[in-house]
Amino acid sequence: MRPFRSTVSLAEARRLLAEAMQPIARTERVALANGAGRVAAADITSAIDVPPFARSAMDGYAVVSSDTQGATDDAPRRLQILERLYTSQLPRLRVAPGACAEIATGAPVPDGADAVVMAEETRQVDSHRVDVLVPARAGQNIGRRGADITAGQVVVRCGETLTPSRVGAVAAIGWAEVDVYLQPRVAVLSTGNEVVEPGAPLGDGQIYDVNRFTLASLIADNGGIPDPRPPARDALDELIAALDACAGADLIVFSGGSSVGERDLVVDLVAARGEMIFHGIAIKPGKPTAFARLGGTPFFGMPGNPTSCLSNAYVFLVPFLRATARLQVREPRTVRVPLRQRIVSAPGRHQFYTVRVVDGAAFPAFKGSGEITSLSQADGYIEIPEEQSVVAEGTVVEVKLF
Ligand code: AMP
Ligand code: MG
Repeated sequence: MRPFRSTVSLAEARRLLAEAMQPIARTERVALANGAGRVAAADITSAIDVPPFARSAMDGYAVVSSDTQGATDDAPRRLQILERLYTSQLPRLRVAPGACAEIATGAPVPDGADAVVMAEETRQVDSHRVDVLVPARAGQNIGRRGADITAGQVVVRCGETLTPSRVGAVAAIGWAEVDVYLQPRVAVLSTGNEVVEPGAPLGDGQIYDVNRFTLASLIADNGGIPDPRPPARDALDELIAALDACAGADLIVFSGGSSVGERDLVVDLVAARGEMIFHGIAIKPGKPTAFARLGGTPFFGMPGNPTSCLSNAYVFLVPFLRATARLQVREPRTVRVPLRQRIVSAPGRHQFYTVRVVDGAAFPAFKGSGEITSLSQADGYIEIPEEQSVVAEGTVVEVKLF
């Protein structure tokens, strides 16, 4: 055994990670259709007005508003219909007092008209005449040219994420492609002689690889491109070869072998290829966690225990990856509910304790660091600070929801 010489606190681990994080600088041009969720790498500025022409916002009649003053159901204003305007159809005639044009939503408003009366506020007399029953205000039901976006306006700023509505704004100004930051490529690899891939038969003493799948799905959900690799055995030369094969990744995440046993070789791996930044965090679960720089590439050595690994991925890897990808770091949604069963916490370690929320109360869901169901059957977690050892039954706790 090679016990941890010193562990870092949760706050110190976060500080060291923030210090090592570098937002991705490389960019690429993608089709707008593939732009959703990506981060704009430059301001996107409109060259046109949107809408590019004054258009009707209603199906009805384009009128001279002063013609309609005082109109009522009993004393309608009769107007002559000059033409019928559908979308993409340019008006041929000017609307003079006493006249109007029937118009569809989205069709260009003819010259001379300064308002659109909706069809429901009219009564057609015959194919050439219509009665207006309600007075119109100048400008009503007309979308001005440039009312949405004016030429020269920035519709998406550099660094903003392309949400569905921002993709829409980019489409509205006619762009087919956008420049975005590259998504960090994250190599993911499980270590351990006993670890085999799902789908293969399970031999004596073997278990299926969980961490590669939890990590890869979390990475894909948080702006990274997971690059999953087959498990590597606990032999230094094999681990070094597996690590060297990750060259080109923006981030490398191994799991297993990060603790203090003779076969826990992450320390030796880091010593062979880079510089350890911390090894061991005063938290539970997830104490045996390493963070290093290998060449220029950040490296996470996650615990093998599936709950420790995934819990730490939520706490450390996700914020690091999102910041690298230039995505906003999200705060979890929380609920405050009473705890239905007393929890005893590890002294000297900040604990992330998983719970289920049922009928407005929290129940312990944590079974152990090795049990993935500690997480998969939980709704969220509570945090128990280092100096606290017991959370009494009935305490109102803040649950951070997954
Ligand atoms: P280690 O961190 O390598 O000491 O592993 C701690 C525990 O987690 C051991 O019981 C391992 O068998 C288990 N373990 C390690 N890696 C994985 C993995 N990828 N999937 C599931 N369990 C694992
Ligand atoms: Mg192992």
